[in-house]
Amino acid sequence: MKYDLVIKNGKAVTAVTTFPADIAINGETIAAVGLGLHGRREIDAAGKLVLPGAVDMHVHLQMPIGRFVSTDDFYSGTAAAACGGTTSIIDFVETAPEETMVAAIAARRALADPRVVVDYGLHMTITPGDIPKLDQVPAAFAAGCTSFKLYMAYGHRLNDGQLLQALTAVHAVGGLPVVHAENWDVIQALVAENVAHGRTTPHWHPRSRPALFEAEATGRVIDIAAFVGTPVHIFHVSCGAAAARIATARARGLPVTGETCPQYLFLTQDVYDRPGIAGALPVCSPPIREEFEQAALWTAVQRGDLQVITTDHCPFTAAEKATGLANYSQIPGGVPSIEMRLAAVYGGGVARGLLTLPQWVDLCCTTPARLMGLARKGHIAPSYDADVVIFDPEAPWTVTPQTLHETAGWTPYEGLALPGRVQTTIIRGQVVAADGELQVGAGYGRYLRT
Ligand code: MN
Ligand code: MN
Repeated sequence: MKYDLVIKNGKAVTAVTTFPADIAINGETIAAVGLGLHGRREIDAAGKLVLPGAVDMHVHLQMPIGRFVSTDDFYSGTAAAACGGTTSIIDFVETAPEETMVAAIAARRALADPRVVVDYGLHMTITPGDIPKLDQVPAAFAAGCTSFKLYMAYGHRLNDGQLLQALTAVHAVGGLPVVHAENWDVIQALVAENVAHGRTTPHWHPRSRPALFEAEATGRVIDIAAFVGTPVHIFHVSCGAAAARIATARARGLPVTGETCPQYLFLTQDVYDRPGIAGALPVCSPPIREEFEQAALWTAVQRGDLQVITTDHCPFTAAEKATGLANYSQIPGGVPSIEMRLAAVYGGGVARGLLTLPQWVDLCCTTPARLMGLARKGHIAPSYDADVVIFDPEAPWTVTPQTLHETAGWTPYEGLALPGRVQTTIIRGQVVAADGELQVGAGYGRYLRT
């Protein structure tokens, strides 16, 4: 029999193993995995790695923050994702004061549905203003938002009592809370002290957000979640001490997971000492930290103490970043990573011998799909969605803004040399990107009920 499409002669990589295989696709679904398969259309993947489409469960596209909106919209951001081998993303939805959660989801979908190139889901954000709306959590869950974002930092942070209330409401529906864990009171005090003494350059950004208090907040929400009895996922872990809190909780048998991001694995805090705007561009929170923290994070992903690598993609233009040059605490936070994650973790992890090929796939594809409840994503096997990436492990390139499809106009990874890159990205049986060229139009992606 002939299949619609067969990816032939590649080395399949799953979260468990690697094996030579042809991948046969009918329609939107993987139909068979084996040898000697034939299709009406065939793609030769000899010498290439064939892996499940990558899942980035933490991105902010056209995200309103203060007076700015993050640079990549649902089209450019997902186009960049597709070119980089990411086939599903999870973005965010926030509810306006007079708006219901379900109405907010509909409004966000109205922006995203006609624009997305890859499949996408949404985390529902719960701010203090949403605490009176916790009775709407079941309706949000039914509308497809099964994960809920809780902040312990910024103006819309939850205090510990509100955290307890929100975690309880999310647990009642079987949702997954995802948490930004930092100690906002400490951060505010340190920022005020620095600014009062004229210490206003980005050099002071990491020094206002100590690793110790990221770990403290991580441990605090883990304890509140344990009291409630709910799983909890910790976003963007930037230091060894926070990873250790997660590892300790897991050793106690608690359903706690954590992620880190390329900015913490590839950069160190001296980026904030670059002169002028160059030091402001990489401002993100938690901050990029010292070299020993970077090493601790690689060890944490290697050991499985952290289970996921996401991006927290949230870039702003240089002009927008420059508005905070007089006071680092006013710089809109976030960096672009959505396109380079898969190739970067291959280069920094697999090629350096720190991670195995299955660990790479597990961190970037399989575990994020499982945590987000994407039962048809993140694996190469019959009946899964035909989301497949062909990766060339021997295609060296150097990251520059020109090599990427992101729109920020800058990348904190400029000059990073990587040994391999994504060649072809397939979503539900359709080639969406090949050799860095988008092959589908806006709106190809679908809303995922996570
Ligand atoms: Mn965050
Ligand atoms: Mn984020």
